[in-house]
Amino acid sequence: MWGVTRTLAVANQKGGVAKTTTVVSLGAALNEFGRRVVVVDLDPQACLTFSLGLDPDSLQLSVHDVLLGRVPAKTALHPVADGFDLLPATIDLAGSEALLMTRTGREFALRSALAELAADYDVILLDAPPALGVLTLNALTAADYVLIPLQCETLSHRGVGQLLDTVGDVQRITNRDLRVLGVLPTLFDGRTTHSRAVIADVAQRYGVAVLEPPIPRSIRFAEAPAAGKSVLSTAKSSSGAQAYRELADRLIKDGVL
Ligand code: ADP
Ligand code: MG
Repeated sequence: MWGVTRTLAVANQKGGVAKTTTVVSLGAALNEFGRRVVVVDLDPQACLTFSLGLDPDSLQLSVHDVLLGRVPAKTALHPVADGFDLLPATIDLAGSEALLMTRTGREFALRSALAELAADYDVILLDAPPALGVLTLNALTAADYVLIPLQCETLSHRGVGQLLDTVGDVQRITNRDLRVLGVLPTLFDGRTTHSRAVIADVAQRYGVAVLEPPIPRSIRFAEAPAAGKSVLSTAKSSSGAQAYRELADRLIKDGVL
C-alpha cells in the first residue's frame, strides 16, 4: 500500500528453508516494482549481508549497534547492487541477545530503531535467525506480517506449531497487530505430488494460508550470493526470479505491501 511503510518478517527457526534467499529475492522484486525497500540482517551468521556483497568483517557499524541504541539505523545502512538498502549484521550480533536480555523493553529495540526509517521506505524486510530467541522476538514485535518459508518435504511442518505459538505470544504481549501472511513453499519440486501434499497438510493442520506461487528449486539460487546480487539480477528470466516477481506482484495487488 503506497504511503504506509509495511514491515514483513521472514521467519522459521529451521535453517536452510530459504529465509535469507526470500528476503534478497523479494526485496529485489519489490524494488523492481518501484517500492523503496530496506532489508535487515538479524542473523549473527550474516548470510544476508554476505549475499548482498558486503564483507561483515570489514563493517564498522551494524544492526548490533542499532539494537543497542548506540547509533540511529540510518547511519548503519548500505546501498546494494540490486538497488535497495541493507542494514547489515556482523558476528557482534551474537552478543546482542545477551546484552539485550539485561534491558527493559528488549523485545522493542528493533521496532523503536526502525521507526525513524518509515519516512524513507515503503517496505522493510526482516531476515530472522534460525532460532526463537530475542532477535526473532524483536523481528516479530517490529513486523506487520510474518511470512514462513517452508521446504516441501516430509516433517517440514515440525516447528511450525512452535513458531505459531511464539507468534501467538507476541500478538498477546508485544504486538497485537502482527498477522501471519502465510507459508511460502520453497525449494519446490513441482514434478512430485508429494510436495503439494506436504503443503496442503501444513495449511490444514495449522490453519494458515499458502502463498502462491511456490518457489521452484533451482541451481540459480546457489550462484547468486557469490555475485553479491539477487537471482533477479544474476539470472533475470529464470523460473526462480519469475516466481519471486509473481509473489511480489500478488502481495502488491492484495494491498499487503
Ligand atoms: P535460511 O536463511 O532459511 O537458512 P537460505 O536462504 O540461506 O536459508 O537458503 C539455504 C540454501 O538453499 C542456500 O544455499 C540457498 O542458496 C539455497 N536455496 C534457497 N532457495 C533455493 C531454491 N529455490 N532452489 C535451490 N536452492 C535454494
Ligand atoms: Mg538465513
